[in-house]
Amino acid sequence: MKDRAFFTQDEPEWLERFSRLAAAFVAASAALVLAGWVLGAQVLVRILPNMVAMNPVTAIAFICVGFALWERIPAKGQPRSWKQKVAFILAALVVLVGTLKLVQCLTGWTFHIDRLLFSSRLAATDAHPASEMAPNTALAFLLCGLAVLTMDFELKDQSRPAQVLALIAGLIALLALIGYSYCAFALYRPRGAIPMALITAVNFAVFGLGFLAARPRSGIMRIITSPTNGGAVARRFVPMAIFVPWILGAVLLAAEQKAYFRSESAISIFAVATIFIFTALVWWHAKLLHKSDLDRQLIERERAEENLHQATANLERSNTELQQFACIASHDLNEPLRMITSYLQLLEERSKDKLDSQAREFIGFALDGAHRMQALITDLLAYSRVEAKGTAFEEIDCEQVFETALQNLRVAVDENKATVEHQRLPKVRGDRVQLTQVFQNLVGNALKFHGAAAPRIHVGANRHNGEWIFSVRDNGIGINPKDFQRIFVIFQRLHARQEYSGTGMGLAICKRIVERHGGRIWVESGPQKGSTFFFTLPVLSGG
Ligand code: ADP
Repeated sequence: MKDRAFFTQDEPEWLERFSRLAAAFVAASAALVLAGWVLGAQVLVRILPNMVAMNPVTAIAFICVGFALWERIPAKGQPRSWKQKVAFILAALVVLVGTLKLVQCLTGWTFHIDRLLFSSRLAATDAHPASEMAPNTALAFLLCGLAVLTMDFELKDQSRPAQVLALIAGLIALLALIGYSYCAFALYRPRGAIPMALITAVNFAVFGLGFLAARPRSGIMRIITSPTNGGAVARRFVPMAIFVPWILGAVLLAAEQKAYFRSESAISIFAVATIFIFTALVWWHAKLLHKSDLDRQLIERERAEENLHQATANLERSNTELQQFACIASHDLNEPLRMITSYLQLLEERSKDKLDSQAREFIGFALDGAHRMQALITDLLAYSRVEAKGTAFEEIDCEQVFETALQNLRVAVDENKATVEHQRLPKVRGDRVQLTQVFQNLVGNALKFHGAAAPRIHVGANRHNGEWIFSVRDNGIGINPKDFQRIFVIFQRLHARQEYSGTGMGLAICKRIVERHGGRIWVESGPQKGSTFFFTLPVLSGG
């Protein structure tokens, strides 16, 4: 919302300036009234001849409370100057003045604090009404003085009683102002007592606003100045709730007095107009809030997408770096390993006669270890090259790919007296070398992990939901379901090397290749129940 920008700074400076302006206005207008009393200028003390004047003690109390507010505006925590101490004393004096006047009004006490200055000019004359301090003025002073004294006192729920006191004083003033504008004496002249002067009412209203603006980040002001939707609602509706009925009432009252309407009609129009205006206001505001919520959601979604994008880019980068690292590391490891293997073989051949049987056995172990390491490195290299060294996809016939894999396994098939059957396999888009490797690894495992019976292997492909599901089924030793995930992780094997040879990389490589082709791989099996490995590949477009 647009108006949030006003309040997004840490401490809205313009509110502090407004508070100072209000304090200065209160003190200056009261000083003018006092000057009016000194000079005998009626226009300064009562504006119009038939209006109630501001009492001189009231004027002094306003100067005190205005000065006190001005001095107390700097936030707590700054060192207290002598002026601030004076401000406290003046606020306490204002409390005293208000209290004495109230006591006098309530008890009929003979001490009149408001008759201490210019006493001879205060009484009512034919030309002017009396100029005492009104009881509602005294009450408002009591509240304002107390508010300044307790300005920074905060309760546990972060509310500030001082703000409530200033608000009540402001409401008393508002009542008087509405009373003046409607000529409704009861509102500014309680129980027939002397009325509150118009300038006095204006001064209290200005003081109340200035007081609230002095601490824009605490108590009720915390919500009003907050950049939240709650803050926006408060900022829009509080002024509307005061001014709309006030102005509407004044207009209708004037119309009724001029006999345009009867009072029942005026009240009905007031009710209907208030309902209409506030419904329109609520609707307009609901629309704004709705839009601002949508905007916020959009921003949040964009931010989330941006984060996701960033995270994906980071992941891709680190993945590439890791692949390069694995590729370079395994490539460089091969060199020294080859040297170890060849010198061990040389040693074995040349010193065959000079070495005893134990030494030859040790060399045999070392050579075996070196060969194993070579196999591991080769597989690791193959794994790391799936992404980096894969060729561009082309249309390939899986029938041919499978035949090539079977050719490569011919010796193992014969040795194990295995039977290998297969269905007609489809054409797909992919990397010929890598898909050959997948078939070779899966059929190779089916040959390797056989039980007592000769291996019987079946390779098939079924079309389902827009993809080909390939299967490689055997009658071998099977796999425990708890190991279904583990076997696809690099270097994970379920058997000792003495039982079944291998590096534990075959299925990890298959998984990587299948995923590169946009497919999935999984196994269904049980101990001694044979295994079926499945993998999917997308159906050729138009196929
Ligand atoms: P390797 O064959 O080198 O051990 P693989 O990654 O190909 O590595 O397989 C991992 C493990 O999964 C094997 O060690 C084996 O325990 C199990 N496995 C794979 N294929 C089969 C199969 N057809 N039948 C039973 N177990 C299998």
